[in-house]
Amino acid sequence: MLTQLTITEMKAPFVLPELPYGPDALKPVLSRETLDYHHGKHLQAYVNTLNTLVEGTGYAGMNLEEIVRKAPAGPLFNNAGQVLNHTLYFEQFHPVGAEGTGSPKGKLKDAIRGFFGSFEGFAKEMASASVGLFGSGWVWLAQDGQGRLTIVQCPNAGNPVTEGLVPLLGFDVWEHAYYVDYRN
Ligand code: MN
Repeated sequence: MLTQLTITEMKAPFVLPELPYGPDALKPVLSRETLDYHHGKHLQAYVNTLNTLVEGTGYAGMNLEEIVRKAPAGPLFNNAGQVLNHTLYFEQFHPVGAEGTGSPKGKLKDAIRGFFGSFEGFAKEMASASVGLFGSGWVWLAQDGQGRLTIVQCPNAGNPVTEGLVPLLGFDVWEHAYYVDYRN
């Protein structure tokens, strides 16, 4: 994922973050067509709208995470949240079979085992939180200031940074994330 530093460097005018892999890199899980729509169309639209909304306001000088933390509920929060969420989302993937992929290792592996019993137990909880989220939204694995891991369900454009948590892994549960490959 992106580091906190990178997110805090993102300021207006926002630009579409480049995918850190090729358009076919995530096949067969996510097709080129899905990435084209999701990244090139949906995320681009959030970026464009966010730029329009912050222009000439006090939010123009803030970084993306600050905007998400401070924006009132409504269009500004929704578009800033979706730019933050999708930046993290697209950054967290690696091509199938690439070095470093597979289940977590090191500190994260130990933390997941400590809080969820096993990686399989964590995966099950993440999946049921995603399936159980009513409507569009996001499910995050997040960490608090004491290092505790938690799974957070957020409706719409929500991100756990608004609760003072650090997002580690995000599932996009909007239908636009998967409908091209998996239908409804
Ligand atoms: Mn999405």
